[in-house]
Amino acid sequence: MAETKVIERKPLSLSERTYLPQIVSGLKTTISQIFKPSVTLQYPEERPPIPKGYRGVPTLVKDPNGREKCVSCQLCEFVCPPRAIRITPGEIPEGSEYEHVEKGPEEFEINMLRCIYCGLCQEVCPEEAIFLQDVFSLSGYSREEMVNDKKKLYELGGTLPDEHFKWDKKKAAEEAAAAGGHH
Ligand code: SF4
Ligand code: SF4
Repeated sequence: MAETKVIERKPLSLSERTYLPQIVSGLKTTISQIFKPSVTLQYPEERPPIPKGYRGVPTLVKDPNGREKCVSCQLCEFVCPPRAIRITPGEIPEGSEYEHVEKGPEEFEINMLRCIYCGLCQEVCPEEAIFLQDVFSLSGYSREEMVNDKKKLYELGGTLPDEHFKWDKKKAAEEAAAAGGHH
């Protein structure tokens, strides 16, 4: 039979029994960190700076004149890998200030339970109407709440600068042509 070797546990010394060395060593670490700049944020009261080009929640944007930029071409709906976008195309009514744009979305929904934040919708959009911006935390109590409708998408998107105003230029050119001017 193998011989059993009993190892005696060393009794704790006096200082070990008071835990003082451990407390002092812990305090040393605390005190050495206390004057260093903080690396944590008091989230959600404090928010981290969002870098340019961040791909947060997809949103719809208006141009600086307040025009809804989306023309409901449905390219984004087609390209979206998880089928998160649902668009009901609509006509822009005659007599509207933006009648010359002809089309706009009657309804536009993005299901944030499906969206994978890939940014393909933004890349494919010929109108620069859909952007993944800086909103990074969306939550809700129901599945329905996680579907952003057109109103919510414009609230989240706001207005972005625009350099093109292509529809306004097209209208101006058509008006000039109608008035007998040159193209
Ligand atoms: S970011 Fe990607 S997944 Fe989300 S709506 Fe756009 S295309 Fe779809
Ligand atoms: S957001 Fe852009 S790609 Fe999507 S339907 Fe509107 S215009 Fe087309």
